[in-house]
Amino acid sequence: MITLAVQKSGRLSEQTFALLQECGIKFNGLSKRSLMINATNYPLRLLLLRDDDIPECVNDNIAQIGMVGENTLLEKGFDLKIIERLGYAKCRLSIAVPEKSVFNSMKDLSGQKIATSYPHILGKFLDENKIDAEIHEISGSVEIAPGIGLANAIFDIVSTGSTLITNGLREVFTVMKSEAVLIQSDQTTAEQISLIEGLIFRMRAVRTAKDYKYIILNAPNESIDQICSILPGMKSPTITPLVTKGWSSLYSVIEENTFWENIDKLKKAGAQGILVVPIEKMIM
Ligand code: ATP
Ligand code: MG
Repeated sequence: MITLAVQKSGRLSEQTFALLQECGIKFNGLSKRSLMINATNYPLRLLLLRDDDIPECVNDNIAQIGMVGENTLLEKGFDLKIIERLGYAKCRLSIAVPEKSVFNSMKDLSGQKIATSYPHILGKFLDENKIDAEIHEISGSVEIAPGIGLANAIFDIVSTGSTLITNGLREVFTVMKSEAVLIQSDQTTAEQISLIEGLIFRMRAVRTAKDYKYIILNAPNESIDQICSILPGMKSPTITPLVTKGWSSLYSVIEENTFWENIDKLKKAGAQGILVVPIEKMIM
């Protein structure tokens, strides 16, 4: 049996639950009120916590693994192993100042008051850069601090930057990038490690599938070689003859991020009736 600590509700939880579901792990009556819930088809128990408590819980081996933002892990300061990067909850932790204030270099932060919910990460950054600024710790709504005279700058999570703009702030420096990560306790048993490996195997199959699409197209036989060279699939594409003489159907896998740049090439090479379909799981 393994215990997995996840955020009960918040920015991480929706995608965390979705990922577990895509990994085929089922829970009976997963409700926001429960604190602990057993999977019905995997020896796994979920512990639903505030994200701040996840690193400590894994450090104490109350949960053998946890899914948490890298920023929270770093802030809590536990030296835990990241065993998988999960690719969601991507954001950055940045310093921002009021739009009209002067900022030419990091030295301009000296003597300033910076509001943040991440005093540990900010403190380390200021020390490393020999900046003598005051850290004002607040637990939320950091971006309003300069506007109400609580601070001259902030250090906070940024994703699109729209919250900063709304609050008249300008991002001046990114201190770290973050995404959801899977962390592991160093006190796991051999049996638990094999359960964790099984879980990671499933997570990778789900993630890889998202990066690829299944592509089906028709083409005249003389174009097939050229089309194959545009489509570096997993191995070579599958080609089957169509009833229409001289034509074939081709099946392959294409990387999502190369799709749009290749589609014109495929059409020019003679491809027709191109279908692109999502892949649910993919084992390389
Ligand atoms: P809790 O109630 O569990 O303590 P919280 O309010 O501290 O939650 P959330 O706002 O739910 O935290 O954010 C959890 C994590 O999600 C953050 O630590 C960060 O890693 C990530 N995150 C937060 N905001 C964003 C965003 N705008 N875009 C992407 N990821 C984000
Ligand atoms: Mg929190």
